[in-house]
Amino acid sequence: MTICPHCDAEYDVPTIFVSAPAGALPQDGDAVLCVRCGEWCIYDDADSYGLRKPNRREARLLTGDPRSQFIREAWHDFTATRN
Ligand SMILES: [Zn+2]
Repeated sequence: MTICPHCDAEYDVPTIFVSAPAGALPQDGDAVLCVRCGEWCIYDDADSYGLRKPNRREARLLTGDPRSQFIREAWHDFTATRN
């Protein structure tokens, strides 16, 4: 089980990965979008909860990656239509 470091949501398996192929389990260092709070997390085997907040370098990479921007915007659009 993993726990989002931003909002404490618990997941059996994290949901959206940027760097892993579709259907693959996350690897150390993969970016994961929390579907509850829409914040990016980094999958980390060494962390007891499996996820940690991105460090400054990872946050910069995510901000500059069009794929991560697209996924986050899609998440915002999706949650906006549900509320
Ligand atoms: Zn979260």
